[in-house]
Amino acid sequence: MSIPDIDDTAREKFIEGFHGHIIRPSSGEYDDARAVWNGMIDRHPGLIARCSGVADVVRAVDFGRENDLLVSVRGGGHNVAGSAVCDDGLVIDLSEMTSVRVDPDARTAWVEAGATWADVDHETQAFDLAAPGGVVSDTGVAGLTLGGGIGHLRRKYGLSCDALRSVELVTASGEFVTASEDEHAELFWGIRGGGGNFGVVTAFEFDLFPVGPEVAMCLVFYSADEFESTMGAYREYCASAPDEVSSLTFSGVMPDEELFSGDALDEQKIGVLGCYAGPPAEGMAALEPLRTLAEPLADFSGVLPYVELQRLLDEDYPDGMRYYWKSLYLDGLSDSVLDRLAYWVDAAPSPLSTVDIWHLGGAISDVDNDENAFAGRHAPYLLGVEANWEAPEMDDENVAWARDCLDDMRQFSDGSVYLNFPGFLEEGDDMLQTTFGPTYERLVALKDEYDPTNLFRMNQNVAPSS
Ligand SMILES: Cc1cc2nc3c(=O)[nH]c(=O)nc-3n(C[C@H](O)[C@H](O)[C@H](O)COP(=O)(O)OP(=O)(O)OC[C@H]3O[C@@H](n4cnc5c(N)ncnc54)[C@H](O)[C@@H]3O)c2cc1C
Repeated sequence: MSIPDIDDTAREKFIEGFHGHIIRPSSGEYDDARAVWNGMIDRHPGLIARCSGVADVVRAVDFGRENDLLVSVRGGGHNVAGSAVCDDGLVIDLSEMTSVRVDPDARTAWVEAGATWADVDHETQAFDLAAPGGVVSDTGVAGLTLGGGIGHLRRKYGLSCDALRSVELVTASGEFVTASEDEHAELFWGIRGGGGNFGVVTAFEFDLFPVGPEVAMCLVFYSADEFESTMGAYREYCASAPDEVSSLTFSGVMPDEELFSGDALDEQKIGVLGCYAGPPAEGMAALEPLRTLAEPLADFSGVLPYVELQRLLDEDYPDGMRYYWKSLYLDGLSDSVLDRLAYWVDAAPSPLSTVDIWHLGGAISDVDNDENAFAGRHAPYLLGVEANWEAPEMDDENVAWARDCLDDMRQFSDGSVYLNFPGFLEEGDDMLQTTFGPTYERLVALKDEYDPTNLFRMNQNVAPSS
């Protein structure tokens, strides 16, 4: 059922009792409100319900279920596939629920589900504490945490979902529950890595860790002319890197006039970004080898406030540009892998696109596989293929490049993917089953219990068994 098809009285009754902000297609702000980060997404919801609190969320879930509406849930609006918005249906929009409350003695933060990582970092860094987030600060806490959460602190303090103590959520039946190790423990297991399949999370409670106020950071660029040898040196470094160091590489032209001049501006480069979660002086020493993998083109490494590190990449991902991302866990960085990666870096149709390698392990792999639903602890590296471009007429070429690269690289992987990066689920895709393996059936059982009619299906969907 779509919003225009439902009974006017039911719709107006819902709107009257709603405390937050309702945006209809006729509202002047409708186009801004339906836009998400990825400019490829152009969906027209029937109604956007911007909730002011839990009561609104319960009301919106009930309205969606009772009227059999297509429902999507919006946290930070950064999902690459644009799953936060739907056509004709109801968007449950949490973007005005952004409170963050820190308990510095207990080292916890209570975070409303519309907050971004910038909101969290701002509050937690007042006490030199941090929750493990992502590497771009305007990404939503909600989607990122429910899918896992891989950031600058990952090898020392684990994934965002591993740092969860509890969540508050509204299930498909409109029930408000707290899930933790002690209450609704199976639900708590599932939401940590199983995505937004089981309800609308209204708040997260995170464990915090001592970080900052300043951290050591390495940001260095090399020419990609010697791709295999430079990346080979990176592989050597990772083999014995301390858990305090979380690093990634990103390769492409990246023609940034603020960073590069002369020939360097337009040549293929390898960027290396690393963070040390510990004392800055010790960190600069630990990061030093990453700055000498080859002769650097440019080196911006140094000690900086943690909040600045968190914002460092924000401007590289402007709202409204066109994006198509894919990911794959890699078994390793063999010479054959590096050879193929060099090919795909070179083949990118857009100079803004990159091929990224995230070093995993450390605290991520210290956690048992069945501790929570997140799948991907086994892999030493994650490949991220980021097609980023501006002109709509270049869509086909860029999408094809990302898909072809992934198809080729599958030979070096068990086929599992990081579910926060793939974005677009293709027709007949068995990516979820491949990624979760035997855990998938446990997620289906949870879906049967908490959302048997699949009200929450605008996501990496675990379909109920019926
Ligand atoms: C520029 C950029 C940088 C990124 N960097 C990282 C990174 O460093 N590390 C990393 O791990 N990931 C990263 N990601 C991926 C990111 O984790 C996902 O895109 C994630 O979905 C974003 O969450 P969101 O709340 O902003 O998304 P939204 O688009 O708002 O939501 C995505 C989906 O999450 C679910 N959801 C959202 N809110 C709720 C809720 N309150 N309750 C239940 N379900 C909900 C819904 O299914 C929704 O469709 C990045 C993405 C972008 C665009």
